[in-house]
Amino acid sequence: MHEKTLAELSELLHQRKISSVELTQHFLQRIERYDGQLNSFVTVTPELALEQARAADARLQAGTAGKLTGIPLAQKDIFCTAGVKTTCGSKMLDNFIAPYNATVVEKCNAAGMVMLGKTNMDEFAMGSSNETSYYGAVKNPWDVKAVPGGSSGGSAAAVAARLAPIATGTDTGGSIRQPAALCNLTGLKPTYGLVSRYGMIAFASSLDQGGPMAHSAEDVALLMETMTGFDKRDSTSLDRPVENYSNQLNQSIEGLRIGVPKEYFGEGLDPEVAKVLETSLKEFEQAGATIHEVHLPNNQLAIPVYYIIAPAECSSNLSRFDGVRFGYRCENPKDLIDLYKRSRGEGFGAEVKRRIMIGTYALSAGYYDAYYLKAQQLRRVLTQDFTDAFKQVDVLFGPTSPTVAFNIGEKVDDPVTMYLSDIYTIAVNLAGIPALSLPAGFAHNRPVGMQLIGNYFSEGRLLNIAHQYQQRTDWHSRTPASFA
Ligand code: GLN
Repeated sequence: MHEKTLAELSELLHQRKISSVELTQHFLQRIERYDGQLNSFVTVTPELALEQARAADARLQAGTAGKLTGIPLAQKDIFCTAGVKTTCGSKMLDNFIAPYNATVVEKCNAAGMVMLGKTNMDEFAMGSSNETSYYGAVKNPWDVKAVPGGSSGGSAAAVAARLAPIATGTDTGGSIRQPAALCNLTGLKPTYGLVSRYGMIAFASSLDQGGPMAHSAEDVALLMETMTGFDKRDSTSLDRPVENYSNQLNQSIEGLRIGVPKEYFGEGLDPEVAKVLETSLKEFEQAGATIHEVHLPNNQLAIPVYYIIAPAECSSNLSRFDGVRFGYRCENPKDLIDLYKRSRGEGFGAEVKRRIMIGTYALSAGYYDAYYLKAQQLRRVLTQDFTDAFKQVDVLFGPTSPTVAFNIGEKVDDPVTMYLSDIYTIAVNLAGIPALSLPAGFAHNRPVGMQLIGNYFSEGRLLNIAHQYQQRTDWHSRTPASFA
């Protein structure tokens, strides 16, 4: 049952061949059996799940069910859930129970989906390996010595091991795409503003965007239709009609112009990963696409620019965790300053503190112009690079990550090397455009992801291209042997 696609599960539910309760029990049992090896969930919610499953079965019975009614999912623990702990991977929020649901959670609930639990993640979504979580590292189901990627590493591991058929993630600089690549999944970072950020704990507000993580483009399309839509409670939410992505999946890619940025295939890219990607390009050519070399001349600026803007925004966003209003509070504070200092000092982990310090410095008087303003100007330059590239081609193709999954512990003491994991993903967030990672094959016995980047609102096109590729290949439908 756990190997089936969302469309297949939906059909079984609608034909009443299985009930949502049975399906939910099946996944809950898998979590129980396997998650000890993976640590992909922070919280499992069996009672809530079964209650939602019973309600879904009633809708299926009454004929009021939608396509995803009764389908279980896992929510990244960054989305607030009323009555269920939301930790954001931090000790700071270990005791936090939100009084309301994030819009994404509301929308999944309204569709009749069943929440299995909340997935582990890097603390406040800062990381590329899931090792910064207060709840411990998550293991990659393809090789438990390896990281699953981050920050949506728990969602990626849970879906890859088929403990949940689909999950949500968030992507500020690569956190949906990079774990999708490292765990052999399809993950989409939508155009900024398509998915509401209301109730999604903020890291860097001008970059954060939620999106689906699943096995196939077809499954991603279904959750996208459920997650997106205007939300007046998010001031950056885009007021445009929800698209039907599933309907856009069966178009030929004959004549599609694929741009390959020269800068994505230079130094730093593992040659074995490059080899896999060359094979994927041949597949696209056979399907009728044409390949063109393009340039993103300023890509080397993406990481330095991001590591000013993201920390600046996070230093501001995380100032709300003060030990007073919610979250962790230190024991026996002497006075107010001691309360602030020790609550934040004890509640936040090392990576979060590093970012707050960099961000506060970059925003301080005298340095603002030299760092923050400069970074904003370069953000514009990086965006222009994409605009120029999309005058020549329809989509861009490249690696998602320079390497396959690395080993747990390998990069954790070297933040700069860790930051380089996102060299191909980060500029996309700075520009606000959509990008998708999908399985491309294996190198060193670990999954390789390819990335497709499109212009604003090209989600339908990206999903179609991925779907065409997935019709011709079967990388995306493989399951790691120990979790079959
Ligand atoms: N790895 C990047 C970071 O650590 C991106 C994280 C994300 O997308 N949330 O900031």
